[in-house]
Amino acid sequence: MRIVLATGNPDKVRELAALLPGAAVEAAPEGFGPEETGTTLLQNAWIKASALRPEVTDPQAWVVADDSGLFVRALDGRPGIFSSRYAGPDATYADNCRRLIEELEGAADRHAAFGCVLVALRPGEALVASGVEPGAITRAPRGRGGFGYDPVFEPEGTGRTMAEMSAAEKGAVSHRGRAARRLASLLGLGDG
Ligand code: IMP
Repeated sequence: MRIVLATGNPDKVRELAALLPGAAVEAAPEGFGPEETGTTLLQNAWIKASALRPEVTDPQAWVVADDSGLFVRALDGRPGIFSSRYAGPDATYADNCRRLIEELEGAADRHAAFGCVLVALRPGEALVASGVEPGAITRAPRGRGGFGYDPVFEPEGTGRTMAEMSAAEKGAVSHRGRAARRLASLLGLGDG
C-alpha cells in the first residue's frame, strides 16, 4: 500500500513511517504546505490532505495528513491548533518549550493533552482517525529524543518525558501512535 503524507515536517514523516508498518510511506513534495486556516485539528488535517490529493495521480495511493497540537488546561487549551507557532511565526521547538515553561511558571495545574487527527483520502473515499494523550507539563525540559514539546511533556503514568523515551516507547503512548494504529486498522494494515 502506497501512502503519501501531506506534511513537510520530517519529524512527523519519520514517526508515521514507523507507525504504519507494511505501507510504503512517502513525504510530500518539497515545498508543500498549504495555509492552515481551520479552527480545529480535523479542519486543518482535511485542508492539508485535500490540497495534496490532486497532485497524486495514482488513484490507489492514499494521501494522509496529520494535524496535531498540545492543549494545556491552565491556558484554556492553548496553544492547541497554534502549537507550531506558539512563540511566533518562526519559532523553533526550543522557543516554544521555553515560552510554555515561562507561561506556566508557578502554575499548580500542569495538566495537558496532545491531540492528533489523521485524514486519509483516495478518490471517493475518506477515513478519519484520532488519538489523545493525557499528561502533564514539566517544570524544566528533560531528554533529547523526539521533537516539538516532547522534552516538556510527561505522558500520564510514565514519570518520563516523551524526549526521554525511545521512538517505540513514545509511539506506544503518543497521540500520533494511537491515531495511527486506528488508521492502520481502517486501512487493513494491522490489527489496530
Ligand atoms: P501542525 O503541523 O500544525 O500539526 O503542528 C503540530 C505542532 O504540534 C508541532 O510543530 C509541534 O510543536 C507540536 N507537536 C505535534 N506532535 C508532537 C509530538 O509528537 N511531540 C511534540 N510536539 C508535537
